[in-house]
Amino acid sequence: MSANEDAITNWFAGQRKLAKSDFPIGIGDDMAQIRLAKDTSVLITTDILLEGVHFDFATATLKQIGYKAMAVSISDCAAMATIPIAAVVSVGLPKGFGQRQLKQLHAGIILAADKFNCKLIGGDIAGWKTKKPFVINVAMLSKPAANKPVKRSGAKVGDCICVTGSLGGSGESPDYKHLTFEPRVKEAIEIAKMVTINAMLDISDGLSSDLNRICRQSGVGAIINAEDIPISPQAVRLSSPQAKKNKEPLKAALNDGEDFELLFTLSTKDCEKLLKNWNNKTAITKIGEITNTNKMQIKTADGKIKNLEISGYDHLKI
Ligand SMILES: [Mg+2]
Repeated sequence: MSANEDAITNWFAGQRKLAKSDFPIGIGDDMAQIRLAKDTSVLITTDILLEGVHFDFATATLKQIGYKAMAVSISDCAAMATIPIAAVVSVGLPKGFGQRQLKQLHAGIILAADKFNCKLIGGDIAGWKTKKPFVINVAMLSKPAANKPVKRSGAKVGDCICVTGSLGGSGESPDYKHLTFEPRVKEAIEIAKMVTINAMLDISDGLSSDLNRICRQSGVGAIINAEDIPISPQAVRLSSPQAKKNKEPLKAALNDGEDFELLFTLSTKDCEKLLKNWNNKTAITKIGEITNTNKMQIKTADGKIKNLEISGYDHLKI
């Protein structure tokens, strides 16, 4: 489970206190916020993608890798309901990579950048001298929309828990949704215009792990209804007779990483208003409620309530 990553992130955050006046949002959210002047601030995030972990050349083109690298950071801008501004991109190149490969990568970077009006404003290129894997890192800036940037820590007891789109199976063939997903920037800003979002993040390590993050950072519990979780077509296919992997679609929806859908909480009243008035093509589904139990629970189809196992992707698993 990704408690490892959260533990070390907390340790980092504890080493030096950041002044709230200068850094309203510090280490541990989807982006950090830097105050530049009284009513002016900018947000920043960085994401590193490793060959063999976040992509493989057997299943991804360089254009897709460039797209994904940008889309992952743009998704963090969505997670705060902020507007992407600009990015710098650094790459560590395997031996033999030249201009041709960099142009293919650039095509993917620009595809994502143009879609969200986010400019590529610089970067760095370094080449390995020996046979080493490909690495790409994006650092991205965003600015607040009309709403305040939405943190992970604002969930309140009684809130509804909602997700956009559908979950699970993003790494499965033939779709490889993790390479082509659409960051939910427009949706996030639209939702924030209609209602007050109390807490939000983008699901990168799996619903169970990421909901746990909202709960831990907000000091609350949660109960979700198994039957209400929108399971993606890619996850549903896992249970077909043709699927070689014997994986339960619900488990895939709960624990697979890289869905990059929004997970957010809001008051019951705002949730009703949102679901009634939402007519964007990206679905929003209510999947549960925030509780005061401090536990993560799931109500199964037979009506039983169980503790929700947190077993999403762990970046620090040895
Ligand atoms: Mg994120």
